[in-house]
Amino acid sequence: MAQLILHPGKEKSILRRHPWIFAGAVARLDGRARPGDTVDVVAGGGKHAGEVLARAAWSPASQIRARAWSFDAIDPIDDAFFKRRIAAAVERRTALPELAGQQGLRLIHAESDGLPGVIADRYGDTVVVQLTSAGADKWRKAIVGALQKASGCARIYERSDSEVRGREGLEPVSGWLLGDPPAGDIAIDEHGVRMKVDIVAGHKTGFYLDQRDNRRLLRDLAAGKRVLNCFFYTGGFSLQALAGGATEVVSVDSSEPALATARDNLALNPQLDAGRAQWRAANVFDELRRLAEAGERFDLIVLDPPKFAPSASHVERASRAYKDINLNAFKLLAPGGLMMTYSCSGGVDLDTFQRIVARAALDAGRDARIVKRLQGAADHPIALAFPEGEYLKGLLVQA
Ligand code: SAH
Repeated sequence: MAQLILHPGKEKSILRRHPWIFAGAVARLDGRARPGDTVDVVAGGGKHAGEVLARAAWSPASQIRARAWSFDAIDPIDDAFFKRRIAAAVERRTALPELAGQQGLRLIHAESDGLPGVIADRYGDTVVVQLTSAGADKWRKAIVGALQKASGCARIYERSDSEVRGREGLEPVSGWLLGDPPAGDIAIDEHGVRMKVDIVAGHKTGFYLDQRDNRRLLRDLAAGKRVLNCFFYTGGFSLQALAGGATEVVSVDSSEPALATARDNLALNPQLDAGRAQWRAANVFDELRRLAEAGERFDLIVLDPPKFAPSASHVERASRAYKDINLNAFKLLAPGGLMMTYSCSGGVDLDTFQRIVARAALDAGRDARIVKRLQGAADHPIALAFPEGEYLKGLLVQA
């Protein structure tokens, strides 16, 4: 096996069990390795000099030159390894009562489940898998076999079309890996609401499972409220607000296909009062201004925008965008109203986000307080050794 020798001092993050080895940490590769091959990671200096500290997948095209599979130097990386890791990830979810019985469930959350580059989401009896790193791609057969066994699902679909694959030198790949395509649409039940999941063309693997708990919270807050849901996508928050007894739900998203899907989803749920829903295909930045000028007021507002800052280099522009929508949303918030505001940008941490929301409140002339910090659901855990896993952060603020 080839050996990846670290520069002296660069072993510290590996010793803390952080799985990423950046190009700048690599002194040299002794031996040959193709993309995705397993290499031994060896300390180049210090008290661990010459020791194997991890086994990692080599990815020469990426700035993240290797991703650790294991910090145990005697752990062979083979089919059995993936079987164990994947079974353990699925068992961790089974052990959490709040996840029991969920038809839509993330089974594998990449680095946070000890499987860099591997995402797997279950929708009923279909698993959608996304392989985003050279190592994950190389072990696809073992991963798919283990997933089938651990999930008991008959269908596995691959959605490896995320743009991050490009950075690993991989082409996009999509298609059925196992089983026949289902006859009709795939749909899941979420808190008693039926939602269509477009595994072929939808965002991520088809659905924003990470917001499951937060949609439930919105539902619990919605009774008797006039609600504004910005960036509704397939309408998850909007439908939960209706289910919770909102008197009116105004939803805004710029995507026409999203609008069609959200309307379909509402039609799938005859128990909801469709007369209380208003869908608007518009740019949220403009629509918030227009609503404010028209003197509109809402008791409950959701802001769940797309990733404005995919990485640290976008933070400044992203901050202005977050500030703009939060400022205008504060202007629309009725006295005593509640706002759920999110950032799913990896490049914007919680402190930064909170500061932006604070500035927005100040500039809108609103006195507001955080009543709850919000994060992704329990099937999207954050490994303590991998704080980068905390991409979704939200605040429930009350004016
Ligand atoms: N809240 C959703 C997920 C939102 S995804 C859920 O729970 O499922 C982000 C959405 O923002 C996408 O649907 C995208 O179409 C929309 N979007 C992106 N930029 C926008 C803009 N400037 N104005 C309105 N919608 C926008």
